[in-house]
Amino acid sequence: MERFQMKIESLSRNEEFARVVVAVFMSRMDPTLEELDDVKTAVSEAVTNAEIHGYQGKEGTIDLDVRIEENVLTVIVKDNGVGIRDVRRAMEPMYSTDPSGTRSGMGFSFMEAFMDEVHVESEPGRGTTVTMSRKIGR
Ligand code: ATP
Ligand code: MG
Repeated sequence: MERFQMKIESLSRNEEFARVVVAVFMSRMDPTLEELDDVKTAVSEAVTNAEIHGYQGKEGTIDLDVRIEENVLTVIVKDNGVGIRDVRRAMEPMYSTDPSGTRSGMGFSFMEAFMDEVHVESEPGRGTTVTMSRKIGR
């Protein structure tokens, strides 16, 4: 297994940073451009959720844990924010608690579409951990 961990501040500019760092790490798996894009999109959605919903734009730390085991990439995105009361409901397509109504509620659906497995653990007041994995290559 190969692994890297990193802590980033919950700032919107760190969403791109996280996405790019994961892509660079993953490049040693010799992924296709499509695989790279899919994983980058999923990471972007998870980190954006941590920043916007988890920390609600306030200060906080996001933990990234990325692993390569054989041909499977696993990305864990963890925040210590507000948490999610009903994870099943939150993961439904088009479900969003965004009060402005500008979010489409498709973040989790994208993660599920672009990764093979997505698992969400959350506790109100404690935070949220999103674990997603994807087999790379044939
Ligand atoms: P979009 O991703 O399309 O911009 P969205 O973020 O509202 O919209 P999802 O990413 O699918 O949609 O998330 C659905 C809902 O789950 C969010 O509206 C929010 O209520 C909740 N949620 C998601 N991630 C977190 C998190 N890390 N902490 C707290 N709540 C979260
Ligand atoms: Mg989202």
